[in-house]
Amino acid sequence: MTNGDHPREVEGRYLTIKERVWRAAEASGREPAAVKLVAVTKTFEAEDILPVLRQGHVSFGENRVQEAMHKWPGLRELFPAIELHLIGPLQTNKVREAVALFDCIETVDRPKLAAALAAETKRQNRAPRLLIQVNTGLEQQKAGVAPADAEKFLEQCRREFGLTIGGLMCIPPFDEEPLPHFEALAALRNRLGLTELSMGMSADFETAIRAGATMVRVGTAIFGHR
Ligand SMILES: *Cc1c(COP(=O)(O)O)cnc(C)c1O
Repeated sequence: MTNGDHPREVEGRYLTIKERVWRAAEASGREPAAVKLVAVTKTFEAEDILPVLRQGHVSFGENRVQEAMHKWPGLRELFPAIELHLIGPLQTNKVREAVALFDCIETVDRPKLAAALAAETKRQNRAPRLLIQVNTGLEQQKAGVAPADAEKFLEQCRREFGLTIGGLMCIPPFDEEPLPHFEALAALRNRLGLTELSMGMSADFETAIRAGATMVRVGTAIFGHR
């Protein structure tokens, strides 16, 4: 679908969000360049994304491999600097396509997937940046490792599979105050000595930045409702 909005509206919302990201970083005494805005384009088409690409934006997030495969190769020919993040669950039978397409895979959460990623990154000689997804709310239906298992899984990724893990990602429960989840993820990131912290969406990215986010994933506030 397309959002039906005028390109100027998308451009305006994008510039506003960029400004808010900048200010939230400065307000918490952080270097604005240290917070990456990942524009989440799931369900939206090239037409909706172009106004943001034309502003020079390069970081984008998709939650489905199949959808991203249809959308992004064409756009990449026009904008070669594009950097794509996979922010949705990854099935092992899609790992080949995911490694070929994405520059960052934020949802590494189980040994079987880590093993498949290790084999495929070697085979393709490509090394997308990898983040471990942590299920901070311990939600039954949600992907991610439990916080208590994160250290063991990180060690396994390194020792058993030879993967380099860049940081952590979380999606707090919808119906809860996000701040405690952001703080818990930041504390875990510090304890594990990792760098990246992907957290915060349209409704709470400023809170996430205050808690230390190095990547925020914003869709609706830029592209409109899905
Ligand atoms: C869709 C999605 C987002 C963006 O959410 P908005 O509320 O539209 O900003 C962020 N992270 C993940 C994992 C998503 O699936």
